Amino acid sequence: MTTQLDEKLQPIYQDVLNRNPGEAEFHQAVHEVLESLGPVLSKHPEFADRKIIQRLCEPERQIIFCVPWQDDNGEYQINRAFRVEFNSALGPYKGGLRFHPSVYLGIVKFLGFEQVLKNALTGLPIGGGKGGSDFDPKGKSDSEIMRFCQSMMTELYRYLGEYTDVPAGDIGVGGREIGYLFGQYKRITNRYESGVFTGKGLDWGGSRARKEATGFGTVYFVEEMLKARSDSLDGKTCVVSGSGNVAIYAMEKARDFGAKIVACSDSGGIVVDEKGIDLETVKRIKEVERRRIQAYVEAHPHARYVEGGNIWSVPCQVALPCATQNELNGKDAARLVEQGCIAVAEGANMPTTTEGIRVLQDAGIAYGPGKAANAGGVATSALEMQQNASRDSWTFEYTEKRLHDIMINIHRDCFETAEEFGAPGNYIKGANIHGFLKVGRAMSDMGLI
Ligand code: NDP
Repeated sequence: MTTQLDEKLQPIYQDVLNRNPGEAEFHQAVHEVLESLGPVLSKHPEFADRKIIQRLCEPERQIIFCVPWQDDNGEYQINRAFRVEFNSALGPYKGGLRFHPSVYLGIVKFLGFEQVLKNALTGLPIGGGKGGSDFDPKGKSDSEIMRFCQSMMTELYRYLGEYTDVPAGDIGVGGREIGYLFGQYKRITNRYESGVFTGKGLDWGGSRARKEATGFGTVYFVEEMLKARSDSLDGKTCVVSGSGNVAIYAMEKARDFGAKIVACSDSGGIVVDEKGIDLETVKRIKEVERRRIQAYVEAHPHARYVEGGNIWSVPCQVALPCATQNELNGKDAARLVEQGCIAVAEGANMPTTTEGIRVLQDAGIAYGPGKAANAGGVATSALEMQQNASRDSWTFEYTEKRLHDIMINIHRDCFETAEEFGAPGNYIKGANIHGFLKVGRAMSDMGLI
């Protein structure tokens, strides 16, 4: 269910639908942003004159290419890959690569569009882009992953550069894949250009705290939302969807703040542990052994594994969706509210459906949208770029402190902008408007380019 747009924005949205047929996730992401922008156009008519919104909805460049590779049986395989360089008003295109069979142009565009505003919120000099492939890394050998990454980079390298386009990881792309991609980039270009990738290994230009940053940042954002309501995470029961990079470090930081995590998941099912999820077991299963979350109950027989279970059926006070888009719908949101949930913050990108957001907001729950709540990952990527540019390497404590300050600032900017535009407590409006104003002003200053 979608709400009515301001009349000046309706034709813009219709145009997005006509120009991008069949890209449901992209439509959803654009609609959610346009819903916030009515009052901005009234205050800043110059943005309408300069067609800033139309230009923001049209990627600057879209690259689609074939990735041929050979599997371990010697069979030829073909995948499709994408890089959408969405907007470079604030800096080089910046955003991750996703490897998942569901990837198609509409997903990459929704992620790229969100990334533009998210990156603006960080206050750091980065534009927005996103990429990926419909390659499924599950069940592939290490050699197959390497051959795929090398073949992908053999085409992608020509579009990248530390001042042009700087990818990182996302679903299915972690430290191992970044290593293979960066290695091939270095070989083809004959340049050790550290700043062309983020999420690198600590021995070769990576930043301390980057691996932890998205999850940690999400929890810092929750803590700020709760602080604004004179509350805190201490003693709260928490449920986290997923058990990948973002989920693991969200669980870790929530635990540091005194919360008890009672459930997490993967695409196979959910694990419920009323004694509190044992993070070291999850890290071993996911980061070292690369197995399914079901294996958790081998080490903790008192815990329950529910094949295909719905994580949002587990009662909690704080819910952190950290898996994928549209994983929390209207019914899930209603159930969370009913069972006493007081805060939802999105570690994942667009995990809550439009209807789900409406239910959470109507119930007055503190709701932190992904483009604000999970911006700590890309912010720390920008800190990695700073370290690379100065050939420096910061301590974990210093980098984490920078991340924490950035998340406090993002929360404050969203909170204050929402108040200024007559929607107190509405972090979606605050995030969309604050991010839009930054990008819009820069585009305006640079003229029609
Ligand atoms: P990972 O690949 O490390 O983990 C993804 C997790 O989500 C896995 O547990 C996976 O389960 C689960 N998952 C993925 N797709 C689905 C699906 N279709 N249905 C159910 N579960 C699913 O990815 P990340 O942790 O890096 O990313 C998670 C989310 O966070 C994404 O939305 C991403 O865009 C967002 N994000 C990531 C950032 C980062 O720095 N990594 C930065 C900002 C946002 P399984 O293994 O079974 O597939």
